[in-house]
Amino acid sequence: MIRMAEALRFECQPGCTECCRQKGWVYLSESDVVRAAEYLGMTAQAFERKYVYRTRNKMRLRVPAASTCHFLVNEGCTIHPAKPTQCRIFPFWPELVESKREWAKTARYCPGMGKGPLIQIANAKLQAEEMRQAYPEMYR
Ligand code: SF4
Ligand code: SF4
Repeated sequence: MIRMAEALRFECQPGCTECCRQKGWVYLSESDVVRAAEYLGMTAQAFERKYVYRTRNKMRLRVPAASTCHFLVNEGCTIHPAKPTQCRIFPFWPELVESKREWAKTARYCPGMGKGPLIQIANAKLQAEEMRQAYPEMYR
C-alpha cells in the first residue's frame, strides 16, 4: 500500500546540482518548450530541433554525450528561471510525496530533503498535482 510521506522537510541547498546529475529523462510539456525557448531567445521550433526528443505522446530533453543535461554547468542550471516543470517541482513529484519509501530513497542523493522548514502536506500535494497536470501522459 502506498503511504503518503509525512512531515516533509525540504530546502534546496545552495551550490548543489545533484538532482540534475541523476540518470533519467527530463520530460517536457508544450509550455515548458515555449518558456525555455523564449528565455534563450529562440523559437520553439528551433529549441525543439536542438534540444528535444519527441515520441508519439511525450517530449523529453535530449541527453548530451558528456553530461546529463545540455543546460547543466558547475554553477547550476543555465535556464533556471525557465526550467521545465519537472525540474522546478522536484522533489514534490507525485511518486515521491505519495510514498515514504520513495521519498527516503531520493533523499539519499538530495541533501535538501529532510532539511529546512516543514512543508504543509497540502502544499506538497498541490505541487504534485501541478506535475500531474503538466505531464498527463506520465500519470495515466
Ligand atoms: S539535489 Fe536537492 S538540494 Fe540538490 S539541487 Fe536538487 S533539489 Fe536542491
Ligand atoms: S533543465 Fe536545468 S534544472 Fe533541469 S535537469 Fe537540466 S540543468 Fe537541471
